[in-house]
Amino acid sequence: MIDKYKEIVGEEVIEELYLVAKKLKGITVQNINSTPFGGGVAEILSRMVPLMRELGLDVFWDVIKADSRFFEITKKIHNTLHGVDLKISKEELDYFRQVNLENANNILRRSDIVFVHDPQPVYLVEKKKKLKNKWIWRCHIDFSSPKRDVWKFLKKIIERYDLSVFSAPSFAHSLKVRQVLIPPSIDPLSDKNKPLDPIYIEEVLRRFGIDKNRPIITQISRFDYLKDPLGVIKAYRLVKRYLDCQLVLAGGGAVDDPEGVKVLEEVKAEAASDKDIFVLHLPAGSNLEINALQRASTIILQKSLREGFGLTVAEALWKEKPVIASSVGGIPLQIAHKYSGILTYTIEGTAYWIKQLLHEPDYARRLAINGRRHIQNNFLITRHIQDYLLLFLSLYNPEEIVYL
Ligand code: UDP
Repeated sequence: MIDKYKEIVGEEVIEELYLVAKKLKGITVQNINSTPFGGGVAEILSRMVPLMRELGLDVFWDVIKADSRFFEITKKIHNTLHGVDLKISKEELDYFRQVNLENANNILRRSDIVFVHDPQPVYLVEKKKKLKNKWIWRCHIDFSSPKRDVWKFLKKIIERYDLSVFSAPSFAHSLKVRQVLIPPSIDPLSDKNKPLDPIYIEEVLRRFGIDKNRPIITQISRFDYLKDPLGVIKAYRLVKRYLDCQLVLAGGGAVDDPEGVKVLEEVKAEAASDKDIFVLHLPAGSNLEINALQRASTIILQKSLREGFGLTVAEALWKEKPVIASSVGGIPLQIAHKYSGILTYTIEGTAYWIKQLLHEPDYARRLAINGRRHIQNNFLITRHIQDYLLLFLSLYNPEEIVYL
């Protein structure tokens, strides 16, 4: 399977992966996160773990178990880290710690490296002293302006790790632990991103009742306030006054996101009166459908208010689609404004650029071509695996791999 990537990234890249992986023979790595599906972390792990195993590494992926109270607290932590003003009580933080410790007793395997993703399982590190192994904390979220209290609380825990990994330079903070910058990636051969038969794409449009002959504007996202689906509808309405088009808002939920149902209901209510707005609640594993919707779109939006990296942007650019996205989090790493896509700040700006790109398809096409090239050069899974393998090596030889 990994050899198939040679056609996309070249033979040397894959040979190099094997070479570095050889140096890690015998090392076991346990990945831990908080949801098996929905959202970028699960998307990446579901593709990366099998590929690393194919390279001969002993890599596993486990998911913490928790109840809805825990996930309500962690969603609050997530939102405050994204700068939203919310109070989190001492009892809530105690419960957060307690659930982590219960999980630590149940899911930690005897591994050489524990690779913890995002804040939900961050407290597992309390077991580090006992296990005497290496710990990495991988942050996938926008860390540029966290609320002070929650950051103070989290900082102390993060500093118990051997290493921390962030997606974009703007997320770096003063920390007493080594910080490494590694942006995420997409897998060009996954069901989400592989080329599709046009007949299948048309069938998906038919299934959802979308007209293939009129422009389709799409945002794929979990139903989350921070993805601003209501702002997307407002932008679409500003465009619709002048130009005929359809809007697709497609996404599902994630185990660790209890707000999803409420947001979906609000979006449905807002869209109810317009038969050209398609609010699609997709079940987990709808990768081929998402791929088809992205490929069928005229323009793809990612109007997030906050964003870790925004894998959906990379997915759309890889499919050579013009993308209009907010200039937040890791999105500017993927889009150079007016070169490989469009960066916006407001609903009005988003509407303006939708109109522009619908009026100027040749310009939109140039943006899309540049966008795909940028993803090809920077954000494919092979680069990401290479970065992680070097990261693992650096834990054992910190002096040697200073360029990380
Ligand atoms: N995604 C999905 N189903 C959904 C919604 C999103 O498979 O219903 C995928 C999407 O294609 C992308 C990832 O989940 O691969 C979302 O990652 P992103 O970084 O854009 O946002 P996050 O959800 O992690 O905040």
